[in-house]
Amino acid sequence: MREIILVKNGELVLKGLNRNSFEDVLIKNMKRHLADIGKFVFTKSQSTIMVEPENEDTDLDDAAEALKKVFGIAALSRAAVCEKDIDDIIKTAKAYLEDELLVAKTFKVEAKRSDKKFPLNSPQICRELGGQILKAFHHLKVDVHNPDITVTVEIRDKYAFVRGNNIKGAGGMPTGTSGRAAVLISGGIDSPVAAYMMAKRGIELISVHFASPPYTSELAEMKVMELLKKVAAYSGTITTYVVPFTEIQEAIRDYCPEDYFTLVMRRIMMKISESIAKNQNCMALITGESVGQVASQTIYALGCTDSATDMPVFRPCIGMDKEEIIRISRDIDTFETSIQPYEDCCTVFTPKHPKTKPKVQDVIDAENKIPNLDEMMKKATENVKRVFIK
Ligand code: ATP
Ligand code: MG
Repeated sequence: MREIILVKNGELVLKGLNRNSFEDVLIKNMKRHLADIGKFVFTKSQSTIMVEPENEDTDLDDAAEALKKVFGIAALSRAAVCEKDIDDIIKTAKAYLEDELLVAKTFKVEAKRSDKKFPLNSPQICRELGGQILKAFHHLKVDVHNPDITVTVEIRDKYAFVRGNNIKGAGGMPTGTSGRAAVLISGGIDSPVAAYMMAKRGIELISVHFASPPYTSELAEMKVMELLKKVAAYSGTITTYVVPFTEIQEAIRDYCPEDYFTLVMRRIMMKISESIAKNQNCMALITGESVGQVASQTIYALGCTDSATDMPVFRPCIGMDKEEIIRISRDIDTFETSIQPYEDCCTVFTPKHPKTKPKVQDVIDAENKIPNLDEMMKKATENVKRVFIK
């Protein structure tokens, strides 16, 4: 039986004239996600894209699984291709959907007919096929409001398709249709979620990670790479810049008042990230901050961090509870990695009594106590290690 995958665009439908180019990006992204699975032919048709394997042996389970991680897809379904003939449609539906029909208690049939020359109209197709399904599967009942399975028949120009329930897609917009941004990534729970959320809005990601060996270990860095890999499964390649941060952190410890350690550090992180981001044609920075979560994320502290850069800073977790962030991190499978207990540079030299209501000027004064900061920042930026995460 010939089988294909039908992909329903999500918000793309709203994009009017841009729709074509959005769909092209979506197809390019689908190809990338399917590259290891096989070769496919993509055909656009209304708000559906047909994905057809070139080779019959191609594993469609793997292909559907891969497509579930492609942003811009609202729903997908596997469909059997059959002749535009009601007997063939009935035979195909009974055989192709047998397993699902056997476990379902209720069903309904929906028919869509884009070829109006087909001899039966949609209600007639539904009646005919519905009757035959009831005859073959005695336990089933029709429920038009909330069926366990909806059997859909689509009569297209060359063939008819028969399919069961839709599979939910990743939603959002195709990666690469909303420009580029740099995510400041730590090994924690929040920043991988923030990265995922912005990638879902169509943003192409690069990332910046600050490492302070020997205070932070090789394992901590590997954990960050593992997290990025999980995000990259959705977003595509994330070029990552690992910034050597030890010298700067030691200087903060040696020259700044202790209450300001974290805030000065966060501002310097923003500045270095900004310079890398601008160099890589990014339009914004992304962080995993959330109001009130820790002392460095009070509304006052966020103001101090924000004023270190003139780039827009996207903080998609800003209004979320930890519980909500954790739910997403479980969904995208980063949670178990995030909770591995390796130190982050943010937890090195933490003040006993961090300022929770800092004034921007006081933080800048603290920062200005560090001699040669500009040179150290330049040196750190020049010595970044670049890693491609796929
Ligand atoms: P996360 O769970 O993302 O680590 P957090 O609640 O632990 O967040 P902080 O440690 O204060 O918060 O960090 C706030 C944000 O600063 C992070 O979400 C991340 O965007 C950025 N950040 C923290 N540490 C690093 C780091 N070592 N390298 C790059 N960015 C970092
Ligand atoms: Mg952290």
